[in-house]
Amino acid sequence: MKPTIALVGRPNVGKSTLFNRLTKTRDALVADQPGLTRDRHYGHGRVGEKPYFVVDTGGFEPVVDEGIMFEMARQTLQAVDEADAIVFIVDGRVGITPQDKIIAQRLRQTDRPVWVAVNKVEGMQRAVVTADFFELGLGDPVAISGSHGEGVRDLINEVLERFEVPADEGEADHPKFAVVGRPNVGKSTLVNAVLGEERVIAFDEPGTTRDSVYIDFEHGSKPYTIIDTAGVRKRGKVTEMIEKFSVIKTMQAIEDANVAVLVLDATQEVSDQDARVASFVLETGRALVVAVNKWDAADEEQRDRIKREINRKLGFLEFAKFHYISALRGAGVGDLFKSIDQAYAAAMIKIQTPRLTSALQLAVERQQPPLVGKVRPKMRYAHQGGTNPPVVIVHGNALEKVPASYWRYLEHTFMKIFKLQGTPLRVQYKLSG
Ligand code: GDP
Ligand code: GDP
Repeated sequence: MKPTIALVGRPNVGKSTLFNRLTKTRDALVADQPGLTRDRHYGHGRVGEKPYFVVDTGGFEPVVDEGIMFEMARQTLQAVDEADAIVFIVDGRVGITPQDKIIAQRLRQTDRPVWVAVNKVEGMQRAVVTADFFELGLGDPVAISGSHGEGVRDLINEVLERFEVPADEGEADHPKFAVVGRPNVGKSTLVNAVLGEERVIAFDEPGTTRDSVYIDFEHGSKPYTIIDTAGVRKRGKVTEMIEKFSVIKTMQAIEDANVAVLVLDATQEVSDQDARVASFVLETGRALVVAVNKWDAADEEQRDRIKREINRKLGFLEFAKFHYISALRGAGVGDLFKSIDQAYAAAMIKIQTPRLTSALQLAVERQQPPLVGKVRPKMRYAHQGGTNPPVVIVHGNALEKVPASYWRYLEHTFMKIFKLQGTPLRVQYKLSG
């Protein structure tokens, strides 16, 4: 499991600057997708071989409350409890402020490991600046400069050393799908409907409340793993408890799955939270099946509305299959498996270089990349650089000049030629020497 690092600190200490640096490389992988909701608070990063999630607690609305927590927004506190590690950022040029002390007091109560990062120290004497911050009582402060990148890599390496990062534990050889969505859309009802009739083989009790539950089962004598983000705590109970939506739990489940099943509520509008979960799926590159639930309860008007809103707000999910289901009545639930299988197969496809290269040539014959001045970028061959999502690497010259729209055209063409349904596909390039 990828560790999640939460960046905490008062305004203006440099959280978002550091966040941008920590997520830069991964961000660049996702070409601009029209309609994609960019969430500036959650991102993926990687140091060497080690992947991690970062949460910037910065832009959240402060919640005014009593006691020492009034300084820290509710979401910040939730992130502190759910993250695996906390990086507490302070400003080395300003020194300790009363706000820093309040935050430190709260952080001393968490059982998560905390690092104090003294920021903005470029050109300063590190030992002198950091000495001030011992007083926070959170261990040895580390000196960094987020904007210049100094000390950042060392800090993250130190944080990640704490966590066992599995060295590519071998891909699952069967569909492993996460049921995700905002609270109350019907995730647990769907999980129950799916499992109700199947043979459950194994079942992991969640370690902590933030963990999802993993259940192995068979359907049509084929193995599957379902990742239940709603938690089996609710199974069998009639109580309707609306859970706090955990972004971190959702992100980790999506990351850990090979297929995401995004559940929407047909009786409600498509909300920002829905779009945000959908964006995570796309950024992570996971295969996707969308289940528009509560179809039984939606009247004609609501059905029209949700279809319109899906087109307008979730247009970037055009690669996915949509199902209109009723988890409560078990209607349409069996059909989901066909799409899960299809999405899984598409995500894991392996295409040989000659086949990819002829597909590339066909695409270029139909539509050439545009001229750049007098130069026509030349695409020579293509090979596959990964699965889940499939990555196609195009080799050639002057490819850095090819516009994003043309890369999207290639993506669509490959998806059509290889009949990939349910997975995004990424096209990257490599310049021939
Ligand atoms: P946030 O409110 O904590 O997210 O802080 P920002 O990332 O928006 O940064 C606040 C200000 O500090 C901006 O003007 C940044 O350019 C500046 N800043 C951030 N990191 C550094 C740094 O490492 N050195 C210096 N000198 N300034 C920085
Ligand atoms: P979760 O928070 O996403 O896990 O949602 P739940 O599975 O707890 O469902 C929330 C509420 O929606 C409960 O009252 C369910 O009975 C109801 N619900 C779930 N699926 C359906 C459905 O297909 N049709 C209708 N009418 N209600 C449903």
